Amino acid sequence: MTNNNLTNSSLIQLSQMLANKAISSVELTQTFLNRIDALNPAINAYIALDKDKTLAQAKAADVRIAAGNAEPLTGIPIAQKDIFCAKDWQTTCGSKMLANFIAPYDAHVITQFNAAGAVNLGKTNMDEFAMGSSNETSYFGGVKNPWDFDRVPGGSSGGSAAAVAARLCAAATGTDTGGSIRQPASLCGFTGLKPTYGVVSRYGMIAFASSLDQAGPMAKSAEDCALMMNVMAGFDERDSTSLNRVKEDYTRELAKPSSSQPLAGLKIGLPKEYFAQGLDDNVATVIEAAIAEYKKLGAEIVEISLPNTGLSIPVYYVLAPAEASSNLSRYDGVRYGHRAAEYTDLMDMYNKSRAEGFGAEVKRRILIGTYVLSAGYYDAYYLKAQQIRRLIAQDFVEAFKTCDVIMGPAAPSTAFKAGEKVDDPVAMYLQDIYTISTNLAGLPGMSVPAGFSHGLPVGLQIIGNYFDEARMLNVAHQYQQVTDWHTQMPELTMPKDIA
Ligand code: GLN
Repeated sequence: MTNNNLTNSSLIQLSQMLANKAISSVELTQTFLNRIDALNPAINAYIALDKDKTLAQAKAADVRIAAGNAEPLTGIPIAQKDIFCAKDWQTTCGSKMLANFIAPYDAHVITQFNAAGAVNLGKTNMDEFAMGSSNETSYFGGVKNPWDFDRVPGGSSGGSAAAVAARLCAAATGTDTGGSIRQPASLCGFTGLKPTYGVVSRYGMIAFASSLDQAGPMAKSAEDCALMMNVMAGFDERDSTSLNRVKEDYTRELAKPSSSQPLAGLKIGLPKEYFAQGLDDNVATVIEAAIAEYKKLGAEIVEISLPNTGLSIPVYYVLAPAEASSNLSRYDGVRYGHRAAEYTDLMDMYNKSRAEGFGAEVKRRILIGTYVLSAGYYDAYYLKAQQIRRLIAQDFVEAFKTCDVIMGPAAPSTAFKAGEKVDDPVAMYLQDIYTISTNLAGLPGMSVPAGFSHGLPVGLQIIGNYFDEARMLNVAHQYQQVTDWHTQMPELTMPKDIA
């Protein structure tokens, strides 16, 4: 098997190769590290690598495999978004504020991957404090979309997205506050899942907007996402919003006996608001073709309406900045993070440290958040937004009375050019028009590769009811059994000895 096939293998294939001793975890990890050495300088997907630590984990995984107590992800190299604290790793959240921060403990998600014996390949680039849709707000520079280096990978999980698309990892983690797993999955052509709020612990995941933030898998297929979810999900008493539910096997629906109509009886709701003005025509054509494929699989189409969709962006841009302004008040230069070199007194130290440590988009959010929470405006903005948030959630409750899953585009366009929207925050904010409502409602959503427009990937979004991840994964999986969009990868020129 060539190395290219190796980096393109599914998690189950890799797991079998490790179990059969066809390859060791050290060899597999080294293959990815070589690919990262060759391609990362151009793509900028990783912002922290520590080969000694990574290879030590791979060695330990090999010992565990040899001892016969491996789990499905033991020895598999995973990229971690730099929003997760990982003990003794630089953990920056894409910000100058944390550029010198070495995490003293593991996030729950990292603990889970470590317990599963997975290998941490490195920390991936991201928009500063996860605020953005193009990865251009990162203190560590933009990330290239592997399908076209002039274009953005999406954001905020842009580094993980580029790493999955360019096969610089077997799979990656991301977080999604308003679309940051699904929009980059759409723009880079792979499968990403944002779980139901509360399914994955936020402990040790640097907070942006706590009532919306949720971590999830970014991987090559629905099956791979299911295996990742088995590791990531689960109750954690250190996160007060973590839900105490019975542990699920997210692969359980995938094993269903195959028939020519494996989705017979499934009702797919198509919200008319998701196919209205603002959606790129070519993206619409790809999504319609995907829906036609679902009909062949036996699914039934139902017209639905999510009437408050148009309010989701204004509501989000009141609530998310409000929560961010509170969460980010901890960065004061006192205990950790950036501290200005020169200052006159304590207040000056706070001011200078925050002025120097935060980038423009983060400052914009802190200002908006502080404004909407201020005494004179709280009722008019924050309270009103909370009321509309409830209406948006209620729209979904109504919709799920007539359908099992909802489908539509994940993003209104394909990957745009770097620099194209960076000076127009409102145009940038519109990238998440189809994803933000699910965060506001706390629902799970996925993006699944569904085709291309002018050589650029297009993602189909699948939204499920609360805790319906296993079914959603199967809905995506059945589509991936009859299409090969998810197996396509960008052509990247590699030095001969590594390719
Ligand atoms: N693009 C949205 C924002 O900038 C969502 C980001 C996210 O999901 N982390 O806030």
